[in-house]
Amino acid sequence: MTDGKSRRPAADHVTGVIVLGAGPAGLVLGNILVDHGIDCVVLERAEREQVETRARAGFLAANTVRILDRYGLADGLHRRGHPHSTCEFRTDDGRFRLDYSGLGRGERHTVYPQQDLVSDLLTRFVAHGGRIRFGTEATAVHAPGTGRPEVSVREAGGRPGRWRGRYVAGCDGRHGAARRSLPPGTVRHHRDHGVTWLGLLAEAPPSMDAVGYAAHERGFAGHMARTGEITRYYLQCERGTAAGAWSEERIWDELDLRMRAREYGPLRRGRVVQRSIVGLESDVIEPLRHGALFLVGDAAGLISPSAAKGANLAVLEAAVLARALIDDFTGGGSAGLDGYSARCLTHIWRAQEFSQWMIGLLHGPAGTDGASLFDDGLRRSRLASLRTSRSRQDWFAEHYVGV
Ligand code: FAD
Repeated sequence: MTDGKSRRPAADHVTGVIVLGAGPAGLVLGNILVDHGIDCVVLERAEREQVETRARAGFLAANTVRILDRYGLADGLHRRGHPHSTCEFRTDDGRFRLDYSGLGRGERHTVYPQQDLVSDLLTRFVAHGGRIRFGTEATAVHAPGTGRPEVSVREAGGRPGRWRGRYVAGCDGRHGAARRSLPPGTVRHHRDHGVTWLGLLAEAPPSMDAVGYAAHERGFAGHMARTGEITRYYLQCERGTAAGAWSEERIWDELDLRMRAREYGPLRRGRVVQRSIVGLESDVIEPLRHGALFLVGDAAGLISPSAAKGANLAVLEAAVLARALIDDFTGGGSAGLDGYSARCLTHIWRAQEFSQWMIGLLHGPAGTDGASLFDDGLRRSRLASLRTSRSRQDWFAEHYVGV
């Protein structure tokens, strides 16, 4: 319910920065603020155990690691994460590999499960004196246009409460209170990509030493290592498919087929321990600042997981906002806060553009009409130029591993 240090009655609480949400965005922001002596609180709807066990992302870009290093937040990932720099594409024209550490800017990913990063950040935040309230759902942000914004909350047992601060950082994802509290007229650019994935986490060692992308006439399949014992798989499926609809046998048979196990070697099977349906959607809120309210991470823009950018953008935006808040609180001026939205939107749109390109690279036609077949021709051409053109490969590497 709380961090265990204090049990407050539901009354007004006052702080400098109210951070909504304890995901990568909220916890990176919270850690940097606490280390710089800025009074803040993190309000998190879920309980601690749930926050620390939510398996999602796993590929951290080189710039993300640099940011985490700069603020002393990368100990765990250096100890337990591992570098990764190869992806393999499998199509009906054969397969090819790209070692992107030798392309573009020569950067790599670090593979480190998001829940481990979140757990590290949480432990550190509390150890450094950070205040966090679990089981506390923000219900609305009030008066964001004034210098005295407030957040109303529902604490455990439904008890209402209210926090007042100088700024509110909405790091509470796409369905959070920050988005719901935006003033009328706020623009939300949205695209539904019309593609659905069955996301799977399997207790099975990775089956190859690369991220595997299979473009198959039955749909896309993906393979991504998480640890030596756990692998994430994705299978494109019909819209409306229930997460539990496919048996484990059907899942593995379908993965074998689309990953072309007969030609390139069998997949290492194991128990499927988590399933989710992922509708590929993207959106961007513009602007990201509304008075004293700032949107960060998925709350600022949702990005389809096709290019593994969401967690990386969340860390980048949190660090940009933290720097700007520190300047503002310590007399360094408000230019950083004024420029936050424009600066982050540049990164978000670049990531959206690449993510959209990846969707087009990996997914076959939805039908046999002329438009679908035209899209399929484009997809094949994209794959062919990625296979053969060094400048295309450099472009790919720069965007694939960068944010
Ligand atoms: P979140 O991690 O969603 O955190 C938001 C927090 O706010 C949550 O803890 C939530 O409980 C809390 N909250 C919500 N509403 C409220 C409220 N009203 N009051 C208080 N608290 C609230 N990204 C990558 O970079 N690489 C990948 O490989 C990748 N793979 C993914 C795979 C899947 C299946 C999914 C679903 C996502 C993936 N992503 C990936 C995206 C990535 O996980 C997100 O972009 C990232 O979690 C965003 O971080 P965040 O802190 O903004 O939001």
